[in-house]
Amino acid sequence: FWSTAKGYLKRNGLLTLSIISVVTGCTLGFTLRGTHLSTQAKIYFSFPGELLMRMLKMLILPLITSSLMSGLSSMESKACCRIGVLTVTYYLWTTFIAVVVGIVLVLIIKPGVGTEMESNRLGGGPVMTSADALLDLIRNMVPSNLIEATFQQYKTDLVPILKVPAITVLPNFVYVIPDDSDPKGRMVFLELTPPPDVTYKTSPGSSQQMNVLGIVIFSATMGLLLGRMGERGTPLISVCQCINECVMKIINAAVWYFPFGIIFLVAGKILDMQDPSTLGKKLGWKNPFTFIRGLLQAMVIALATSSSSATLPITMKCLLENCNVDRQIARFVLPVGATINMDGTALYEAVAAIFIAQVNDYELDFGQLVTISITATAASIGAAGIPQAGLVTMVIVLTSVGLPPDDITLIVAIDWILDRFRTMINVLGDALAAGIIAHLCQKDFPLSGAGKPVPSYGTQ
Ligand code: ASP
Repeated sequence: FWSTAKGYLKRNGLLTLSIISVVTGCTLGFTLRGTHLSTQAKIYFSFPGELLMRMLKMLILPLITSSLMSGLSSMESKACCRIGVLTVTYYLWTTFIAVVVGIVLVLIIKPGVGTEMESNRLGGGPVMTSADALLDLIRNMVPSNLIEATFQQYKTDLVPILKVPAITVLPNFVYVIPDDSDPKGRMVFLELTPPPDVTYKTSPGSSQQMNVLGIVIFSATMGLLLGRMGERGTPLISVCQCINECVMKIINAAVWYFPFGIIFLVAGKILDMQDPSTLGKKLGWKNPFTFIRGLLQAMVIALATSSSSATLPITMKCLLENCNVDRQIARFVLPVGATINMDGTALYEAVAAIFIAQVNDYELDFGQLVTISITATAASIGAAGIPQAGLVTMVIVLTSVGLPPDDITLIVAIDWILDRFRTMINVLGDALAAGIIAHLCQKDFPLSGAGKPVPSYGTQ
C-alpha cells in the first residue's frame, strides 16, 4: 500500500497539494471570519495569495505572444486556416450549446419563481446598450496602442456633461465632485436622478485590465506573417521559441509556490466575502475522463483565482505534460480560448437573466429567449478572463430583453462563488477544445511535437 501511495504522490504531488490547499484555505478563512480582523491585517494575511495572482498575471503576456507567434509561424498556411476555422466554429457552437442547456434547465427548474428579493435600484442615468458593447468588443480587437493594450481595455463610459461649474450642490444631485484621481479629468457624480439640463455622451473609458483579445489578434497576425517570410523571419521566430521555452520553465518552477499561495488566496477571499447567509437564498481518441484528470491542477487554480487568463499558464502546462496534446495546436487554441471561449460564463449569463425575469414575474416569449441565447453568447465572447467579468457583460443580456440592468444587484452577493465554478468550466472548455481540435487535425501534424507524456495519464 505504502509503495502505491508513494508512487501516486510522486506523480500527483502538486495536484494533491493544491487540493489540500483549497480545503485548508476554506477552513482557515471560515475560522478567521469569527475573529473580525482589521482591514490592514486582512491585507497582510492575503499577501501570499496576492503574490500568486501577480505571478500568474506576469506570465500571461509573454505566454500568449510567444505561443501564438512561434506556434503559427511554424504551421503550413493550409493547416493554419483549417485550425483557425475549426477553433472559432467549435468555440461558437459549444458556447451556444452551453447557453441552450442553461436556458432549458432554468425554464424547467424555475429557481426565481415565487422568490421575493430586494434589489438596490440605482435609478437615473442611461446604461450601456448591446450595440455599445459590440462596438467595444470590435474596438478591443483593434487596439490603437499596443503598449496600452497590455494594461488597458477599451470600455465605453457614459459620462454626464453638466452645463454648470463643478463643486456645486444641485437639487437632484447629492454632490458634484471633480475627481483629481481620474487621469482623464472627468467629473464624478453621485446622482439621484439626472436633472433636465444634463446630457450624456459616450467617452472611451478603460478597465484596468489587459486587452487580451487585441494582443491575441496582433500576435496571431504576426505569427502568420513571420512563417511566410522565409529566412528573414527566422531570427524573430527563434526569439519567440526561446521566450516560450523560458516561460514554460518559469511556470514549472512557480507551480511549487502555488499550493502555499492558494491557501491565502482562498482564505483571504472568504474573509472578505459578504454574509454567507445570502448564499442560502439561491440554490487515438482519448478517454475524456483520463483527459479531464490531467487538467485537475488547472481546474484547482481556476477555482482559486476565478480567472481563466491567470490560469492559462497552468492549463498550458497540464495540456502539454499530462494530456499530451500537440504543442502547436495548444499554443494557438488555448490563448484564443482563454479570450473568447467562455462556456460557463455564457451559460451563467443566460440562466441569471432568466432568473431575474422570473423574480420580477416577467414573462419571456420565445423571441426573447432566442435574443438571450444570442446576446449571452456574444457577451461571453466580450467578457475578459478575469474575476467577475461575466457579471459586467451581463448588462448586455438584460438590456437586450428589457430587463432592468440594476437587478444585477440581486446576484452580486453570490457571484464571487459562482464565478469560481464558471471559470472552471471555461478552462475545461478551452482545454477540451484543444484536445478535440488536435485530434481532428492529426493529419496536419502527424509527427509534430506533442508535450511529454506522463505515465499516469495514458491514452486509451
Ligand atoms: N471569471 C471568468 C473567467 O475568467 C469570467 C467570468 O466572470 O465569467 O473565465
